[in-house]
Order: sequence, then C-alpha cells, then structure tokens
Amino acid sequence: GQNAPKRIASWSLAKIAEAIGGRLCLDHIEDAPAPESVAALCPVGVSSDTRTLEAGELFVALRGENFDAHDFLGRADQGGAIAILVDRVDALDTQLPLVVVEDTLAGMSRLGHAIWNEARDAGMRTINVTGSNGKTTVKEMLALLWGARARVFATPGNLNNHIGVPLVLCAIPADCERLILEMGANGPGEISQLLALAPGEARVVTSIGLAHIEGFGSLDGIRRAKSEIFENPSADTAAILPFSESSNLVGPDFAGRCFTVGFEAGADLRVELLDGADARGALGFTMAHAGQEYTLHLPIPGTHHALNAATAIATLIAAGEAIDAPALNGALAKLALPAGRWRIVEQGDYYFIDDAYNANPSSTIASVQAFVSSATEEPSPRVVILGEMRELGAEAARLHCEVAAKVAEFAQVDALVCVGEFAQQMAEAASKVRTLEVAAFEDVEAVGPWLKYIVDQRGLTRILLKASRGARLERVIDLVVATG
Ligand code: ATP
Ligand code: MG
Repeated sequence: GQNAPKRIASWSLAKIAEAIGGRLCLDHIEDAPAPESVAALCPVGVSSDTRTLEAGELFVALRGENFDAHDFLGRADQGGAIAILVDRVDALDTQLPLVVVEDTLAGMSRLGHAIWNEARDAGMRTINVTGSNGKTTVKEMLALLWGARARVFATPGNLNNHIGVPLVLCAIPADCERLILEMGANGPGEISQLLALAPGEARVVTSIGLAHIEGFGSLDGIRRAKSEIFENPSADTAAILPFSESSNLVGPDFAGRCFTVGFEAGADLRVELLDGADARGALGFTMAHAGQEYTLHLPIPGTHHALNAATAIATLIAAGEAIDAPALNGALAKLALPAGRWRIVEQGDYYFIDDAYNANPSSTIASVQAFVSSATEEPSPRVVILGEMRELGAEAARLHCEVAAKVAEFAQVDALVCVGEFAQQMAEAASKVRTLEVAAFEDVEAVGPWLKYIVDQRGLTRILLKASRGARLERVIDLVVATG
C-alpha cells in the first residue's frame, strides 16, 4: 500500500468546517454559487501537496520554513481541488471555496482526529507504532497479519510525522476495522501530540536505539520521548515493547497491560533464533508465549526482524485473537520491504545488499549483524560500505568511529569502506580493532573504481551498503553496474 492517502467518506465541507471550528468563505469568488450547495460538497480526499493533488480533493495550505502554500493557490485550482483550507484570506489567487481556520496544520490535525473518532465510534480499532528503528517494518508486518483477519488501513509509505499522521487519519476508509499508524518523532513531545490525535488500543515501541538523536539529547531523552506512546492508558490498553526496555518505558503505575518481547528468558513473547538461514538469509525462529511455542519463518534476514515479527504478533495476542504458526507464516511470507531496505541487486560478480534507506548507530550494527550471519552457498568476501549517518548532532564524529570499530569486530567482514565527512577517522578507528582491508573516501563516486578493482581480483563479492538517505549511497550500484 504505497498509494497516497485518498478517501474520506461523506464529509461535506459544512461538516468539515464544523468539526474543526472553521468558516466557509465564498466572498472572493466572482459569481459565487449558493452557499448551501457549496456546503454540501464532499471532498474525495485531503492533500497538502499540489504536485500530487487529485481532482475533487480538499487542499490544505500549509507553510514550511521556506514556502507558504497560500502564495500558490492557483495551483490548487489547476489541480482540480474542490476547496481549500486556509488561515489567511488576503491576496489569494484562487476562485475556490475556502474553509478558513486560525491555523491550517492544527485544522488538518483536528479534521484527522474527527474522522478517526467517527471511525472508532463505528468500531474501528487502532494500533500505534513508534520506536527508534523498525517502525515501518513492523507496520508492514501488522498490515499482513491483521489483513488476514480484518479490513486494514495502514500508514502509506513513511507518513509518520506531524503532517503525515493527520493526512493518514483524513484518509481512513469508511469501512476500516483496524488502523495501523506509524508515528515518528525528532524531539520530545511529538509522539505525545500525535498520540492525542488517535490513541489506540494497542501501543507499540519497536526498539530503542540511537536514531534521530539530535533532537533528543541522549538515549534517556529518546526513552522518555518514546514512552509518550503509553500516555493516558485505560485498563485495556496494551503496551507492546522490548523486554530490555520495559522498565525504562512504563512505570509501575501503568494502568494498562504489558506484553514484552525479547530473546531474554523473562520476556512475555520469547524469541529464539533457529540455525540455518538460506543463501538469501531468510530467517527462522521460535516464539514462545503462555506455554505455547510457534516455529516461524521470515522471507527477509536480520535477527532484529524476528523481534519485529514477534512484536507485531503480540498485537494479535493482546486483542485476544487465536494464533497458529501456519497462519502466521502464511501472512508473513508476503513480507516485502520497501526500497532501500535490504534490496538485493545481483549483477555479475556483484551481490549488493542495498540497506541505504536510512542509518543510525543501532540500525547499522543490526544490519551488519544480519549481513555476516546470512549464510552463503559458496564462500565469498564480504565488503561493508558505510556512508554518513545523519542527525547525530554534536556526537557525530565519535559515534561514526564507534560504529566503524564495532563493524571491524565482526571477523566475517573482509573489507570496510568508509565514505563521507568522517571516513578517515572511521577507517583509523576500524584499523585499531583488527587488520582488515580498510578504505576511506570523501565522495561516493570514488568508491566505484575501488570496488571494481576488488571484485575483478576476487570474483563474487557480497557488498552491504548502509548510510542515511541523504548520502544516497545506493549510487555505488549504478556506478559499477552501469560502467561494468
Ligand atoms: P524511520 O525513522 O526512517 O521511519 P523506521 O523506524 O520506520 O525508520 P524501518 O524503515 O522499519 O525503520 O527500518 C529501518 C532500518 O532499521 C532497517 O533497514 C534495519 O536495518 C533497521 N531495523 C529495523 N528493525 C530494527 C530493530 N528492531 N532494531 C534495530 N534495527 C532495526
Ligand atoms: Mg519508517
């Protein structure tokens, strides 16, 4: 489900205006139609981007640091919008009906909340998913697991912030039974605000790690911020969280029910890995809960994904659903990760694993761990290419070096290539741990020739690419595949 959110069911402009404390305004329209007929119009969706706006949608004029959509409303007219949500009415270049509010982002959030409320009153149940890493993965697993049992609507793509979540809520289909909402944060208080828009019966923290650190200050800051997902619980609220973090994330006075997930003996859902991953590194594990053991398989490698799957399954258990291994495996078998998350590109002697959708210290180590533990049919050298990890703040240099050193500790890594601002320091840190082949490049472009040389010499080579989105490290593939 990567389609942009679309449908809102039978919400007229009058109902929308009332729900968000807005005022319908037609004063600027030449030959304005009758107000009653405009009030009765129902948008087919809500959009905040004129590039993807579709005919019949309500356009929301947001403003960012460098733009104000109010300055370009002609584009909403051209795109076929039915009306526009605005928070100022002077000098607007539009002939469309306006819904005027004090603040468009707040108005859109209120609309999302109102639509969510109506759906919940009609019986829809919500699962909120946050965490440092694994939110989208767990969301995709939840969509598969619940999709076999109910009409599901899940966050499309990665729309997990203060703009994305309201847009997702505005797109809840009228017949939705299970809403799965990814919620991300770059700082304290953000999850709290998002949760208030759509507090679910099940609340999930996938993992705690060093991701988006800049805005949080420290690991404790991250813990505090993620624990906001458990605010205002009822006795029935299910908290699903890593065993190792449970005491950090919920206090003893937590009113809801807790389901902890982990490799540890004390976890409510205990995961144990099975040996024998296949060449593509698919994963086998057991999950024990309440005296039952389930043998499960995933089509993707990475030990952390066993935890992600158990975390998703915990929501079924929390909701009182009966589970059995064949049904769970049937649903999970369809799991496909979105672009840049463990995408395999095979070309001649190059076997690329493109995991460069994003990166931070904990997800990088998890990724390298998966890379080295995936079995190979024939022995082939393993090369790890690390680009920049963004959003690490003042500690960036130290954290890059720490990660490089940790990667060097994996004996199965034959060569480490460091790319970007900290490449030199990282290479030095890695070399101190162990003698392995290490290279450092400032630019991605320089990696191509180096890699070609290695692969020409050694034949089939497995290459892991890991970096933050902004580094666009996957260009390495184009460099060698296009010219090789
Ligand atoms: P974003 O903040 O960009 O939305 P996300 O939380 O949605 O990220 P995913 O997109 O699911 O995370 O996964 C991103 C990367 O994090 C994956 O490529 C994988 O390497 C790593 N990852 C996934 N799950 C875990 C986990 N439980 N623990 C550690 N790392 C993980
Ligand atoms: Mg995500």
